[in-house]
Amino acid sequence: MSTITTTQEQHVIDNVPKQLYIGGEWRDGGEGTLAVEDPSTGETLCEVADASVEDAKAALDVAVEAGPDFAARPPRERGEILRRAYEAIIDRQDELALLMTLEMGKPVSESRAEIVYAADFLRWFAEEAVRIDGRFAVAPNGQSRLLTMKQPVGPCLLITPWNFPLAMGTRKVGPAIAAGCTMVVKPAQQTPLSMLMLASILEEAGLPGGVLNLVTASSSSRTMEPLIADPRLRKLSFTGSTEVGRTLMGQASENLLRLSMELGGNAPFIVFEDADFDAAVEGAVIAKMRNIGEACTAANRFHVAESIADRFAEALADRIGAMRVGRGTEDGVKVGPLIDEKQRGKVAALVDDAVQRGARVLVGGHARDGAGYFYDPTVLADVPDGAELLREEIFGPVAPVKPFATEAEAIAAANDTEFGLVAYLFTSDLKRALRVVEALETGMVGLNQGIVSNAAAPFGGVKHSGFGREGGYEGIEEYLETKYVAVNL
Ligand code: NAP
Repeated sequence: MSTITTTQEQHVIDNVPKQLYIGGEWRDGGEGTLAVEDPSTGETLCEVADASVEDAKAALDVAVEAGPDFAARPPRERGEILRRAYEAIIDRQDELALLMTLEMGKPVSESRAEIVYAADFLRWFAEEAVRIDGRFAVAPNGQSRLLTMKQPVGPCLLITPWNFPLAMGTRKVGPAIAAGCTMVVKPAQQTPLSMLMLASILEEAGLPGGVLNLVTASSSSRTMEPLIADPRLRKLSFTGSTEVGRTLMGQASENLLRLSMELGGNAPFIVFEDADFDAAVEGAVIAKMRNIGEACTAANRFHVAESIADRFAEALADRIGAMRVGRGTEDGVKVGPLIDEKQRGKVAALVDDAVQRGARVLVGGHARDGAGYFYDPTVLADVPDGAELLREEIFGPVAPVKPFATEAEAIAAANDTEFGLVAYLFTSDLKRALRVVEALETGMVGLNQGIVSNAAAPFGGVKHSGFGREGGYEGIEEYLETKYVAVNL
């Protein structure tokens, strides 16, 4: 990778439209502006529009108005808009990756991987747009016919988090457009720039004004609550913390909104003694360190067979401890800063708690001095049962390792959480693999691999990790209603 200059950084920031995008027009926010920070320096990168409640309502007004026309457009037309946007993102991936690194902190190589992953949702749903169908059946008594058709659910509110600034957006926007829905999108205030670029790219790709309306706001509760209460809204799709998801579900209950909830995780990573050891360590590095550990799919706790637990923890410490920490724009950096001081403080408190309870620090265990929100990659061995980080989502580069004695003990430990997004399992025994996969209370399992994300797969959780699926054939169903017609012969 060639060195990135401050001129290049300034250029990508300057290129971002920093206003609200409502009804196909860019306009200022009623509350002025809000600052976007570079987490590697703590300095302000730029200011973007801060929406008022009136702005948010105006966004819903135009989404409602644009609904019938967009729903009636040919599916191929909707698919081709998505396809053009996919190609534009791939063409501009260097610029978009740098922008993402500046606002979110992850290394540019990881941002580039997210850009490709994010674009893939648009490609996938460009293809799905033309595969929406219904069914036709003869009623059991033979006297009538049963017809079903799929129709767009209508105006949607899509709320996304900061940890994957673009992919969490395209995973919702792609199927919503493919299904013929219009929408209001609200990205996280820490990372609005990637989504502003997406709005601009979709506009250039020919998305009609009013279909996607993007609102950036410093107060999400003040601006979003009136929309959730508005009877014209039909669906809320939320990705974020379980705590906020629960609040939004409560608000949405008045309006009986269709909901998709992609919430927090606490992924167990289980390694049996029969696993390919090197592959398990490699998978662990990916599952833990991707996105600086700030992923809902991040391995949160490592349950390792006691005969290999010490060796595994040391191998993981060697690998993780060797990863270069620094600003994501620098050559060779593998671990960027955490998103803000609050997140770093939470990680530090969880590590301190585990250490006080008797966990051994094999590597790391400290926040870095100086500018930015850096925390050293950390491996903890012999983590005792009561440690908070076995229960809470760490969202940082910290790997607690805990030995287990039997398969039943491993399964019980893995399921001992209110979350159920993903689990990782490393074993060479096929029978054991299937047995354990069936017993795991999660929506997804990585079997002998440390990453599950794929636009063609149904992503989502069970228990307090939420419900609904994004990606795959299932992803578009979240934006479709089934209408049944009883046909009298
Ligand atoms: P968050 O605090 O829940 O925020 C997520 C989004 O909700 C942001 O856009 C936020 O806006 C908005 N929000 C917060 N309070 C709101 C309210 N009262 N009304 C309306 N909107 C509100 O989560 P986060 O810290 O950004 O993201 C990290 C969490 O997301 C983790 O728990 C992670 O596991 C989860 N996550 C889950 C998945 C998945 O697919 N399951 C994927 C990625 C992340 P502001 O920015 O203005 O606060």
